[in-house]
Amino acid sequence: MSTHSHFVIIGSGGAGSEAALIIRKRDPKCTITQITGSKLPFISRYELPRVFDGVDNWRDLLAHPPEFYDDNAITVRRNSWVDHVDAKNKKVLLRHKEEVSYDKLLVASGGGGYLPEGLREFRPLMNGLGSYEDAVKMRQALPSKGHVIMLGGDMTGLDLARTLVAVGHKVTLVAGEQLFWPHEVEEKKEKKFVTVLEAMGVKVVLGKKVMAIRKGAKGEPARRVVFDDGGGINGDAVMPFCGLMPALDFMIGANVDIERGLLVNPELKTTNDSIWAAGDVCQIWSPEENSYLFYYGWHHIKEMGEIAAINMTGGKKKISTYQDDHLYINKQGDIDSPYWMYR
Ligand SMILES: Cc1cc2nc3c(=O)[nH]c(=O)nc-3n(C[C@H](O)[C@H](O)[C@H](O)COP(=O)(O)OP(=O)(O)OC[C@H]3O[C@@H](n4cnc5c(N)ncnc54)[C@H](O)[C@@H]3O)c2cc1C
Repeated sequence: MSTHSHFVIIGSGGAGSEAALIIRKRDPKCTITQITGSKLPFISRYELPRVFDGVDNWRDLLAHPPEFYDDNAITVRRNSWVDHVDAKNKKVLLRHKEEVSYDKLLVASGGGGYLPEGLREFRPLMNGLGSYEDAVKMRQALPSKGHVIMLGGDMTGLDLARTLVAVGHKVTLVAGEQLFWPHEVEEKKEKKFVTVLEAMGVKVVLGKKVMAIRKGAKGEPARRVVFDDGGGINGDAVMPFCGLMPALDFMIGANVDIERGLLVNPELKTTNDSIWAAGDVCQIWSPEENSYLFYYGWHHIKEMGEIAAINMTGGKKKISTYQDDHLYINKQGDIDSPYWMYR
């Protein structure tokens, strides 16, 4: 491997950060640049619920101590957004008009919360949870024993819901099509899981369609969710948890195949020989299923970062295609998931 190779990684989440570390271990002399929109060094998103559980300094959530990046000669360009990838000339174009050349590129840009069409116009009245800053904003919006209305019910939302309930907040979940996503739960089992969720302290509203989200009336909580039957509920904040949308707009026109995610083979290479992808952004070819699938869950995120790094540095490793997609009830009688990092 050339000592002058420049590896550029888009994203500083779990996949990109693991890849940077493994590339460094395998190629001590190469140049590594991580480009990320994040303003802070790597904080795993799995840690964000802790912001509601007494953590009020981002330094307490850092995955690595600050000296880690210098010690491993990894340059992290924070608060820098990629607008486009010029695959022909092997350049990444940043929003502030800078160009960064690469020899090999890893796209690990994750994804943002998916919002169904009917809810999009109400985005300004909802709180997201994509970053530490989002979590702090949300905490500030929430009074003591505040009431959070969650829409959808994917596993990321339920991860937060169990923390909010444990620290004294009230959570009402207006269940949507994404209830328990990405788990696929049979209809007859869904009822049982909903009962358990309610026993965990989450109030579940079933069978209602959200028509609108409004600001609360004077003297009322800050938000009102209006249903199709004319009824509604009031809460201090509304959060959508309706699944994931891969973040890959900047790859359009980059000469790589895209479906819902960036399409990669089991070695995580895209259809361009110099570009790999890892984490929530990619959709992986599964020979067993004869189709492209998403590989969710923290263990896969880390593994994808590792495998991409191995293959980018001359190795040969494939992703294991087995997924433990099994929602279950644990010994304490609570809902549990192999996707949850902290159980
Ligand atoms: C509250 C919460 C709890 C969760 N709990 C769990 C859990 O327990 N278990 C689990 O498996 N998953 C959990 N998840 C989901 C998990 O966070 C993601 O699956 C995981 O973070 C994906 O890792 P990633 O590296 O692919 O992407 P991300 O962690 O999303 O990182 C993407 C990176 O790309 C950067 N980026 C994106 N677009 C651009 C651009 N255009 N230019 C520059 N940079 C860009 C972002 O700034 C970020 O640094 C949770 C998520 C949340 C929000």
